[in-house]
Amino acid sequence: MLSDKEFTHCAKCETFWNKRIDFLSDTATEIVAYNPDIKYLEHGNFVFKHDTCGSNIEIQVVNFKDLYDGPIYKERKTGTENCPEYCLNSSELRPCSEECECAYVREIIQALLSIY
Ligand SMILES: [Zn+2]
Repeated sequence: MLSDKEFTHCAKCETFWNKRIDFLSDTATEIVAYNPDIKYLEHGNFVFKHDTCGSNIEIQVVNFKDLYDGPIYKERKTGTENCPEYCLNSSELRPCSEECECAYVREIIQALLSIY
């Protein structure tokens, strides 16, 4: 987890966001990609673009886990017949309809997209 002193900051222009709500309500930030950690899903990164300076900010999935309170499936369906392979394409932000362990992260993405 990130420190209490700041939620995150932009390394390029040094804008700081003290709280997550400040970051999410900032109209200059938007989610643009998801880089999964296939082994530890919570350690995957969401990539946000900072429109003010054009650089990207990566924040781990674990920091947004509370935005989703639906079911988390136990099984991985990655690579199976019905898997749409969205998780293999970082710029793909659509939800996954499979009952796959990885699907809940994509639901968090939908929550993040609905905020912006
Ligand atoms: Zn910036």
